[in-house]
Amino acid sequence: MTSGNIHNKFKMKFSAEEEFPDLSKHNNHMAKALTFEIYKKLRDKQTPSGFTLDDVIQTGVDNPGHPFIMTVGCVAGDEETYEVFKDLLDIVIQDRHGGYKPTDKHKTDLNYKNLKGGDDLDPKYVLSSRVRTGRSIIGYTLPPHSSRGERRAIEKLSIEALNSLDGEFKGKYYPLKDMTDKEQQQLIDDHFLFDKPVSPLLLASGMARDWPDARGIWHNENKTFLVWVNEEDHLRVISMEKGGNMKEVFRRFCVGLEKIEAVFKKHNHGFMWNEHLGYVLTCPSNLGTGLRGGVHVKLPNLSKHAKFEEVLNRLRLQKRGTGGVDTAAEGGVFDISNADRLGFSEVEQVQMVVDGVKLMIEMEKKLEKGGSIDSMVPAQK
Ligand code: ADP
Ligand code: MG
Repeated sequence: MTSGNIHNKFKMKFSAEEEFPDLSKHNNHMAKALTFEIYKKLRDKQTPSGFTLDDVIQTGVDNPGHPFIMTVGCVAGDEETYEVFKDLLDIVIQDRHGGYKPTDKHKTDLNYKNLKGGDDLDPKYVLSSRVRTGRSIIGYTLPPHSSRGERRAIEKLSIEALNSLDGEFKGKYYPLKDMTDKEQQQLIDDHFLFDKPVSPLLLASGMARDWPDARGIWHNENKTFLVWVNEEDHLRVISMEKGGNMKEVFRRFCVGLEKIEAVFKKHNHGFMWNEHLGYVLTCPSNLGTGLRGGVHVKLPNLSKHAKFEEVLNRLRLQKRGTGGVDTAAEGGVFDISNADRLGFSEVEQVQMVVDGVKLMIEMEKKLEKGGSIDSMVPAQK
């Protein structure tokens, strides 16, 4: 949430010592990376649109930790943020993305035909399958920094572009402003729509300003292909359906995404991407593919097992509650998804989910019968 650049200059009246945030109780990637020296070096810098270091780190200063995940604790306000505040963000990225170095190159593979299997996840265990990513539109600042006018321009462009899709992707845009509270809550409860701006992470980053202005959801008729507009990213593109056919979900995701990119390009707006960071998104944790492929899966036994965390780590998977990132799991049902975004392609990440979930279901079945899973614990991927 930019406080303005005259204000940033004004702060220089105080020394770096006087301005340095108290991070002593913090446990997020930003707090670990931000030394006093880095703060001092970067605090008077700004991006061309005026995003400053304090804007980058505010969410991580205000949210020392999170009950379920290790958060990143910083955001980008525009495409240039990652370059201007490199001294901090390179460390955060390296820390969050398994040692990904400033010289590393990211690979993109959105050819769904390269995925092996994935159409046979046992629907007795897998309730639903979903793949999502974010996309940022070149030429606009990112949600923590967008102005109302900019946000409305993004919404307008998105409606125009998305309304030109046809066939299985033919759909309609539903602005939050035109929904009743009940309609909105129903879409949230059915897992189609982003939550109301209650998450402190979202609030402190500035992304919830002017809510619900220019926010909305576009989806096809049967709600299997959905696009969120102006939540954490300009666009969040989602493919989902009930049951365990991840192969089909991924196919629709790849095909739809390609169509969307083509229409945005036709409207003279491509997506932010570079060889090092992959797709450039608001949260550094999403750089790379921006992809989170996951299932809601019943694991009442495995989740109580002492090796559960280790199995997840070894399979490079993460767990969440089924109500989203800020919820705990209930009744043994978890949202299990890929932990990586950078350094592995889209196909590789979905492959890890497909293979990993399959194995976890086998383990669950073994435990159900009172067996031991010791010999099934996988090697580190
Ligand atoms: P993200 O930000 O990655 O999209 P969140 O954890 O914020 O994910 O969750 C957003 C919404 O998507 C929540 O309502 C959540 O229940 C829903 N969701 C996530 N994964 C699945 C899945 N596999 N099946 C059904 N709904 C899902
Ligand atoms: Mg989210």
